[in-house]
Amino acid sequence: MQNPADEEKEGARFALPVSRRAVVLRPPRGAEDLLLLESGRTSTGDALLALALARRLVRVADGDPLDWNSLSVTDLDALILRLRQLVIGDRIRADVACPADGCGERIDIAFGIEEFLAHHTPEPGEWPIEADDEPGWFRPTESAEGVSFRLPTVADQFAVIGRPNAADELAQRCVRPVDVPARLRQQVEEAMESLAPSLSSDLSGVCPECGAEVMVGFDARWYCLRELRDRAAFIYQDVDLLARHYHWTERDILALPHGRRAAYAELARRVEGT
Ligand SMILES: [Zn+2]
Repeated sequence: MQNPADEEKEGARFALPVSRRAVVLRPPRGAEDLLLLESGRTSTGDALLALALARRLVRVADGDPLDWNSLSVTDLDALILRLRQLVIGDRIRADVACPADGCGERIDIAFGIEEFLAHHTPEPGEWPIEADDEPGWFRPTESAEGVSFRLPTVADQFAVIGRPNAADELAQRCVRPVDVPARLRQQVEEAMESLAPSLSSDLSGVCPECGAEVMVGFDARWYCLRELRDRAAFIYQDVDLLARHYHWTERDILALPHGRRAAYAELARRVEGT
C-alpha cells in the first residue's frame, strides 16, 4: 500500500546508541497495534513485544541485517523510546504524589526523550578498559586478575528474566571468571553501565508545595509500551467500523498507516453517526 520512500519520509532515522548501527524506524500500523494489545503484560511479555516491534519496524540503513538478540539491551530500549518519540512525541510527562508526610501534592516530572537519550549516551568510564582477544569482550587495561566481560545482550536478558537472582545470573553469563572478587565485580558493573547505560533510571522532581525532593523510578521500556498500548486501543473499533462501512478485509485495514486509518474511521463515524 505504501512504498518504502513514503515510509522513510514519515519514519525516523537514527543510530542505535551502543552498536552505533544506523537504522530507519517506520511508524506502526494496525498489525503492530494488535501486537501491542495482544501481548502478555509481564516483563517477559514486554521483552518479547519490544523484540517483535524492533524486528517489524526497523530497517538497517546500511550494512548487514541486525540480529536483535545479539544487540545490547540498551539498544532495544533506546529503540522503544524512539518509537514512542515518533508516534506520540518527544515530551514525556508523568506525575507522582508527594510522599512527604501530610503533603500528597501532585509533582510534575517532564523531560524530552532526546534529552534523556543524550544524558544516557555510552561513554568510556573512569576505569580504563580495552578490547579482549575474543570479539565482544573487554578487559581492564591494568589488571593482573585476568577478569574480562561483555555487555549484556537481549538474549542474555531473556535467559535471566523473571529469575529470582537475575542480576547474579547475568553476571555469570557476562563476567569472567565467575568467582570474580566483589570489588572487581563492582568495577566491571560500572564499566558496563558506562558503555551501555541502563535506560531504567531514577528521575528527580521537587514538590511545588513543600519543596521535598522525590526520586521516581522510570523504566523506559515498560513506560513507553504502556503508552503505545493506550494509543493502540482503538484498533478493534476501527477494524469493526471500517469493515462494516467500506467492506474492507481485516488484513487491508491493518496494513493502513495509522493516520490514514484514523481519518477513514473518523469519516465513517460521521456518516454512521456513532
Ligand atoms: Zn510535598
